[in-house]
Amino acid sequence: MSHLDDALEYFTAASTVMDVPQNIVKLLMTPRRQLKCEVAIEMDNGSVEVFTGYRVQHNDARGPFKGGIRYHPEADDAEVNALASLMTWKTAVVGIPFGGGKGGVTVNPFELSPGELQRLTRKFVDQIQVIIGPSTDIPAPDVNTNAQTMAWIADQYAKYHGFQPGVVTGKPVSMQGSEGRTEATGRGVALCAKWALEDLGIDVEGATFALQGFGNVGSWAAMVLAEWGAKLVEVGDHAAYLRNPDGFDVPALAKHVTESDERSVKGFPGADPSSEEELFAADVDVLIPAALGGVLTEEVARTVRAKVVVEGANGPTTPEAHRLMVENGILVLPDILANAGGVTVSYFEWVQNNQRFYWDRDEVNRRLEKIMRKAYERVGGLAESRKLDHRTAAFILAIREVGHATAMRGLF
Ligand code: NAD
Repeated sequence: MSHLDDALEYFTAASTVMDVPQNIVKLLMTPRRQLKCEVAIEMDNGSVEVFTGYRVQHNDARGPFKGGIRYHPEADDAEVNALASLMTWKTAVVGIPFGGGKGGVTVNPFELSPGELQRLTRKFVDQIQVIIGPSTDIPAPDVNTNAQTMAWIADQYAKYHGFQPGVVTGKPVSMQGSEGRTEATGRGVALCAKWALEDLGIDVEGATFALQGFGNVGSWAAMVLAEWGAKLVEVGDHAAYLRNPDGFDVPALAKHVTESDERSVKGFPGADPSSEEELFAADVDVLIPAALGGVLTEEVARTVRAKVVVEGANGPTTPEAHRLMVENGILVLPDILANAGGVTVSYFEWVQNNQRFYWDRDEVNRRLEKIMRKAYERVGGLAESRKLDHRTAAFILAIREVGHATAMRGLF
């Protein structure tokens, strides 16, 4: 099954429970617009390479389309579509005034030089600039894209439309980005983990966690949890899996990853080798998948011993795996809640761009925590009152909001 099938299955499960009118279901299942384009660039050696780019605009009933752009060899139609729909539900769960979209280029960015990457980004903007904009569709970073990529996007877009910082979020702070945006997704993941532990009567201080992915989301989630006294005991990424039962020195690990050629935890001293299977089966309080989608399959889920799974990645859990973990009494906090911290601070960045007035980091973190807490309580409250798992509850809340806005706006 593809990520798209998974996303549709979650949507269908929730819409069945809540009895949504069929006309609304039809509208919510279909993306408003899908753009597939050629991204042709000259390589450093003079040859021409052609990549494929995508921008999918799923739903804008509640506000402009919003969602990241990823550079990955497996980015394709189905994946970008699924991720675009998840953004529609995510923005609704946290109650920020955006819809959902997503973009991607099918490319392995590690095989490109910085110059080639810049040309790829600018060429992609040439292709999508007609459909993005500060009040229509606002991209952001995702897998293998970052503040530098967003700076190139804003600059290239300015050549067509004049400088409008609100066209992308996740920009460098020096280019009207927001304080606190880089760590926002990880901070939100950490907050959800802490609240879930508290609900289970476990103190975050001394709690253990296992983490797949030590990129933007994973590393910041680990930093914040470690600041609160939690112990990272298993960590893995594209190049290595490591174990340290005494708990990793997370700031030192982050420095190691930043300085390593492969941008990996590989080679970090004082740790034992581990594996993907061992990480997912680790006897920990919290398991955080924060790399790619589809990693928690039914087979893997059978081995999970964590009390809480907090989805840092988008779409890391298949529906079968989700059912199994819920049956096994594991509290699963879904991506559309747990990793919504990033889009929430993206919203703050856009607000600050529009008002040309900027907040400090404390202000950003305070507002982030307030929004995440409200969403966490709404989802948890519905789950408890209707005896539902948290994912179904989150989808119900989101479908209710988006469905209502869609119906109110009408079809004309
Ligand atoms: P990133 O590129 O900064 O980091 C990705 C991490 O995943 C790296 O540690 C990499 O080594 C690891 N990884 C890649 N392939 C792997 C593999 N095959 N096996 C194990 N590990 C692998 O990306 P990110 O921004 O941290 O995003 C991670 C996930 O979080 C993605 O699913 C993304 O969609 C989701 N997400 C990101 C944000 C954000 O603000 N960055 C917001 C919401 C959701």
